[in-house]
Amino acid sequence: MNLHEYQSKEIFARYGLPVSKGVVIKSLQEVSGACKKIGGKSWVAKAQVHAGGRGKSGGVKLCNSINEVRDFAEQWLGKSLITYQTDEHGQLVNSILIEELTDIKDEIYLSMVVDRTSQSVAIIASAEGGVNIEETAKNNPEKIISIFLKDSNISQLQIQKICLTLSLNKQQSEQMDDILKRLTKLFFECDLALLEINPLVIKTDEKLHCLDAKLNVDNNALFRQQELAKMHDQTQEDHREATAKQFDLSYVSLVGNIGCMVNGAGLAMGTMDTIKFFGGNPANFLDVGGTATQERVAQAFKLILDDPDVKVILVNIFGGIVRCDLIAEGIIAAINEVGVNVPVIVRLEGNNADLGSKILLESNIESLSSLEEAAKKSVELAQ
Ligand code: GDP
Ligand code: MG
Repeated sequence: MNLHEYQSKEIFARYGLPVSKGVVIKSLQEVSGACKKIGGKSWVAKAQVHAGGRGKSGGVKLCNSINEVRDFAEQWLGKSLITYQTDEHGQLVNSILIEELTDIKDEIYLSMVVDRTSQSVAIIASAEGGVNIEETAKNNPEKIISIFLKDSNISQLQIQKICLTLSLNKQQSEQMDDILKRLTKLFFECDLALLEINPLVIKTDEKLHCLDAKLNVDNNALFRQQELAKMHDQTQEDHREATAKQFDLSYVSLVGNIGCMVNGAGLAMGTMDTIKFFGGNPANFLDVGGTATQERVAQAFKLILDDPDVKVILVNIFGGIVRCDLIAEGIIAAINEVGVNVPVIVRLEGNNADLGSKILLESNIESLSSLEEAAKKSVELAQ
């Protein structure tokens, strides 16, 4: 689960990390009060979306008057911000973080991420932080170092290595030592999957400062991170994926045109692979779960059909625990309820599959017992 920059910085502040004084606003009326509360004569205004790359897309602006901040807020509130990290629809801006302006000398990159390959938490750092970090990663990967932690204890040697790579002086290294220990504590205590500060800046007064912040909390730990879970902003999610979550359906929207409804995540993956194998493209991943009730099947049809690219729906059900005849009745009822206007190919296998096929045939829905045939047919129809 991603958090907004302003939420991440609230948490940073709680852990004693250096962040800018800032106020988050949700309406134009709040701009003036926020700027005055922060004080000073210049501010930075930052559109809050669950995506980076804002700086390069006009989503971050250095402002020299309250009017400039207001213009920025007027330009973005209620609009979508498209960056190279979003899809073509962008992300809705419903809040803006206004901060005191920081004078920057240098921009560093620092992040922590759960690294499955090394079964540890990797700390990644580079002296070349800022909006072009992706290019550094591509063209000069030697300028980025990784340190691996097995637990929340970071050693002095590891800290020294990071400071050396970042060419920090003695005073900065002492501050970095403190920052790294606080970040490590935060990462483990909050069950994070990702923590990114890009840029971590060296200010003109030589002090280190977190200018941007991005946190991602491990979804599997949300049950014990109730306070963080409450910070969730549903507007930043794909709306179909958000609806799916409400109905306990595992749905991931993809770019193809063959809608998939499958019971079981493994079978769903296998179904997508088979579609690909025959030259087609799945429009989604969708696991309706082991107990595919009529209500869930109906909801699943609605989700799939909400995607205008879908040309055909492939239903692939293995009756291991569920009975295929009940599923068949569910499919028919759901189709009648939802009003499906694209061809539906069904593959039933397992418990009472024959009875299920008979029921479907009575409603003029063909069902096949071979996944290969069903996938091939879906690909043909989609073309
Ligand atoms: P991102 O592009 O979405 O990652 O947004 P960032 O928060 O990283 O901001 C992008 C860039 O804006 C930073 O790399 C900085 O160069 C610049 N920026 C952000 N805040 C300030 C600030 O307070 N002062 C100055 N001078 N530049 C800033
Ligand atoms: Mg950034």
